[in-house]
Amino acid sequence: MFEKTELKPWKTLEETIPADIFKAEVRAWAKKMRVEPAEIHIRPMKRKWASCSSRGRLTFDTELLRQPAKFRAEVIVHELLHLKIPNHGPLFRSLFKAYLSKK
Ligand SMILES: [Zn+2]
Repeated sequence: MFEKTELKPWKTLEETIPADIFKAEVRAWAKKMRVEPAEIHIRPMKRKWASCSSRGRLTFDTELLRQPAKFRAEVIVHELLHLKIPNHGPLFRSLFKAYLSKK
């Protein structure tokens, strides 16, 4: 999960993107990372930007649709990475960096 306290909320810099576009971003990252989320949901969340169930069901906060592309990518990669690694250990952190530094 991606706690909202892990990062300060960014100022809105972009127009809201449609939910379909966001889901397409998630699927594009999933393909790149070779993971298969079972389901992708978008709904308002109070304390987290995103969460991931043990069955691979991903939920993203609706507010993400109003966040800058770079931040959206961070949250998406973080959550998808949990399909491979359930914790936030050193392996998680180094893969997270590696995925986001690649184009
Ligand atoms: Zn997490």
